[in-house]
Amino acid sequence: KELPADKILENSRRQVLDACFSYVIPKKTSNPQLIHVSEEMLAAIGIPSKEAQSEDFLKVITGNLILENTHPYAMCYGGHQFGNWAGQLGDGRAINLTEIVHNKQRWALQLKGTGETPYSRTADGLAVLRSSIREYLCSEAMYHVGVPTTRALSLSLSGDEVLRDVMYNGNPAYEKGAIVCRASQSFIRFGNFEILAARKQHLILKQLADYTIQHFYAEITSEGKEKYLDFFTEVRNRTIDMIIHWQRVGFVHGVMNTDNMSILGQTIDYGPYGWLEGYDLGWTPNTTDAQFKRYRYGNQGYIGLWNLFQLANALYPLIEDADTLQEILNEYNTMYEERYLEMKKFKLGLTTLDEGDKELIDRLEETLQLSETDMTIFYRNLSTISSEDNFNTAFDKIKDAFYSINEIEGEIKTHWQDWFDRYLSRLQKESLSDLDRKQQMDSVNPKYVLRNYMAQLAIDKADKGDYSLINELYQLLKKPYEEQPKYQQWFTKRPEWARHKVGCSM
Ligand code: AMP
Ligand code: MG
Ligand code: MG
Repeated sequence: KELPADKILENSRRQVLDACFSYVIPKKTSNPQLIHVSEEMLAAIGIPSKEAQSEDFLKVITGNLILENTHPYAMCYGGHQFGNWAGQLGDGRAINLTEIVHNKQRWALQLKGTGETPYSRTADGLAVLRSSIREYLCSEAMYHVGVPTTRALSLSLSGDEVLRDVMYNGNPAYEKGAIVCRASQSFIRFGNFEILAARKQHLILKQLADYTIQHFYAEITSEGKEKYLDFFTEVRNRTIDMIIHWQRVGFVHGVMNTDNMSILGQTIDYGPYGWLEGYDLGWTPNTTDAQFKRYRYGNQGYIGLWNLFQLANALYPLIEDADTLQEILNEYNTMYEERYLEMKKFKLGLTTLDEGDKELIDRLEETLQLSETDMTIFYRNLSTISSEDNFNTAFDKIKDAFYSINEIEGEIKTHWQDWFDRYLSRLQKESLSDLDRKQQMDSVNPKYVLRNYMAQLAIDKADKGDYSLINELYQLLKKPYEEQPKYQQWFTKRPEWARHKVGCSM
């Protein structure tokens, strides 16, 4: 539709009141170039591969061509950042292009890094190549490893240089600008509701909640306050589900601010995320969170609840029933613990009920942290253990997972012996054959994940104009549970040079 005359398009930074979003125009880029496109996403939205090679496709996914009858917009949201209310944030460098319905599935396409919006605050609205590669590769890898996530359709260079405040030798550092085209049913976050509640814009809050339920929670049929309670309950369930998956594969989001919590329970905003190498409940990839480690691996479940508490506050004006909201929150911990136990049992190949399982799992978590032990390799190799194994033969099969085998002696070795004795005798109570158990374990314990150094190697090559590793990792991570012998080199511990190297969000 034609935009009404009063909907003036302007990107100037401001507080946006009485609205959920602002119409904006993506910035034209000087020399757009396609680096990679996701074949799976193309298929999902119904664009033939050949079309993705066209000039028009490139222009659309870099914001240089606006499709007829579409009106790009940036969303207004607020959020709690590191535990504090931060006021208006919003899509500071993301612009929603349009929506596509294909195979009855609805997809919103969003460009990240196409210039300023009313929500850019003091920043430039742009994204650099390194962070864009990380987002592009990781969102597709997460999808294939079975974690609810936003997707990525394409990765492109803008052709423009972006100034980042990293100073080398006192000189400003320019980096290559890039644009990722993301895709999801919706990019609405907890923060979209929070900003409206904070501003007491209850009518718009209700409109946003009704819109979200109608389009993304169509299974909810109740009315009145029940409808919003059911909605909140379902968001809680999806959030638990997502975080349990993170714990299963060793993904640490790194910035679980409420503006980075999708209302659909999808992983969103791939910034300083990381994948566990050594199993460590205290690890965070986010260097700005190094002091309190609020968003560390072992705290993600608790933060999910903390964030839902903020969402409950935001939805309160539509419900006005604090007791029931509190009850829904109170169920979180029990549900989370049940799901966590169930997930861990799957990782260990345990299918029957045994009251010692919680202790077995707790002891494993402790033992894994006694010395640096690679999470991915440990679980993947654990599935090769047979019910005939004794401690020594079993231990042999997983010892590749230790970063320093010399440390596994004395008390640490005794702990491992104790744990394996328990595990091996626990396996005797199972009825699955060794082969069936292996298959089941291998279906939840990925062999290949996007280790931080792998993304870094792809970034270093891409900086020099070589995109081959982006494609190799993309292909590899499409089948994270399969053996893929030709990629065996990626089933290996992080090399020593990559220790303490972390991701970057800018
Ligand atoms: P994040 O920490 O990535 O979740 O971002 C927090 C807020 O900062 C969001 O409102 C982002 O849109 C905004 N933001 C981050 N980077 C930029 C940038 N380069 N330009 C404009 N806004 C940004
Ligand atoms: Mg964000
Ligand atoms: Mg971000």
